[in-house]
Amino acid sequence: MHIETQLVRSGMKRDVATGSITTPIYQASTFEHPRLGESTGYDYARTANPTRSALEEAIANLEGGRVGLAFASGMAAITSVLLLFKNGDHLVVSEDLYGGTYRVLSDILSEHGVTVTYVNTANIDEVNQAIQSNTKALFIETPTNPMMHVTDLERVIQIANDHALYTIVDNTFMSPYYQRPIELGADIVIHSASKYIGGHNDVVAGLVVTRCSELGEKIRFYQNAVGAILGPQDSWLLVRGMKTLGLRMEKHNENALKIAKWLTSRSEIEKVYYPGLETHPGHEVMKKQASGFGGMISFAVKDSEIVPFILEHVKIITFAESLGGVESLITFPARQTHADIPEEIRNRIGVTKCLLRFSVGIEHADDLIRDLEEVFDAYRK
Ligand SMILES: *Cc1c(COP(=O)(O)O)cnc(C)c1O
Repeated sequence: MHIETQLVRSGMKRDVATGSITTPIYQASTFEHPRLGESTGYDYARTANPTRSALEEAIANLEGGRVGLAFASGMAAITSVLLLFKNGDHLVVSEDLYGGTYRVLSDILSEHGVTVTYVNTANIDEVNQAIQSNTKALFIETPTNPMMHVTDLERVIQIANDHALYTIVDNTFMSPYYQRPIELGADIVIHSASKYIGGHNDVVAGLVVTRCSELGEKIRFYQNAVGAILGPQDSWLLVRGMKTLGLRMEKHNENALKIAKWLTSRSEIEKVYYPGLETHPGHEVMKKQASGFGGMISFAVKDSEIVPFILEHVKIITFAESLGGVESLITFPARQTHADIPEEIRNRIGVTKCLLRFSVGIEHADDLIRDLEEVFDAYRK
């Protein structure tokens, strides 16, 4: 079955009693036991809720994994996965990764004795050199947030397998529509479902999918134990959002390519980071491991003075954090999403006061271009 069809069929045919075309929102915290020692499969909703189960099955199928789990946020998902590691363990992590993940690793996991080496995972030599005798996993974002470095998943998974490490991929930027790391051998895929999977800037949620059942059951145990679960209403919103994921991703991708090319032609712009551009160093790797390039563009302006002017004068594009929704959003990573990363590291990796991140929505591309063009022209005057 093609993924477009799989997406539309997510969460269907689960209500035998009424034949409802969508999975109902089971707003219940507990379920009656038929007899002593018997269960309908649902007991208490921290452990399982039918609406959440519909979502969890859907994401597991889409990513090609065995177990799917839905969490209260992307960070709840990431933190629950990181509970796999204990005092003395070491991780190799993509260096410009989501600021919240960096914060959990540097301010919380470190207190529990887990150490981390940050490398540019797009550079295979750096990955190899960072592995120590106590390394337990590689944690990859590709493309990275916000510098859009592309990691060759097949090659890093090979390295992980050679050293018996888990490969964990934060697949938020691509969504399963464009990239399915488990099919390439990754062990765990994580999503901030608040982004493309929900797709409408109206829900905060996280998802985890594992390649094998054993690892999935271990993380399910953590999910139930710590209670980092997604509620039924939000689970329903995600299933609903997923049905149009294919259409949305195609449009995000088409718009982003058009806008990236236009930005490249502008004198105000120093550099455009979009893996769909043939000049992007990760372009060929992207073509090999993903079926599209997504809707995220980062760009550096020549003059940092224009940054506040852009943020305060765009009309259609909204100045806000987050990404992956139908509405176009523009973010200033150094002051927002990545503010927790020390300035010296930020500058080294390129998250400077000239860098903006643009989550291209599904509006008409010409309207988005005109919005930016008017701001650039107004600034010049
Ligand atoms: C937003 C984001 C997260 C965190 O997800 P929340 O749902 O906001 O908790 C993690 N990784 C990436 C790549 C993100 O963009």
